[in-house]
Amino acid sequence: MTIRSGSCLCGKSHFALDDEQPTVAICHCTHCQKSTSSAYSVNAISPRAKLTVSGPLKKFADKGDSGGAVDRWFCADCGSQVWTEAEAMPGAAIVKAGCFDDTSWLKPTLEIYCDSRQKWTPLVEGAASFAKMPG
Ligand SMILES: [Zn+2]
Ligand SMILES: [Zn+2]
Repeated sequence: MTIRSGSCLCGKSHFALDDEQPTVAICHCTHCQKSTSSAYSVNAISPRAKLTVSGPLKKFADKGDSGGAVDRWFCADCGSQVWTEAEAMPGAAIVKAGCFDDTSWLKPTLEIYCDSRQKWTPLVEGAASFAKMPG
């Protein structure tokens, strides 16, 4: 059992993920670009039951390109995105990987929504890439 801890920038929102090796995926979608104000998001995907979260989280009710709900949970105090739930991925917790205390283990194996990838960002060697969401 490996507990991976993390927090938002201000430290009021915390989480613990009980997962040795979550699937790590880079998302190049335009919503991730805007919501992170960066080129892409890095996500650790695990079963929802493995994630424990606490703190002043607030939800932004976003929608995916299929029209399904995407609930983006962020710290109400500092604004860091902490985790996301997507109707298209039932039962999964999508943890925003930049919030882990230790990020040394992250190794993206998937890149999604490469259609909207900012072209100066290199693709991760060995990662599978998809134009949109893999089926
Ligand atoms: Zn915070
Ligand atoms: Zn995205």
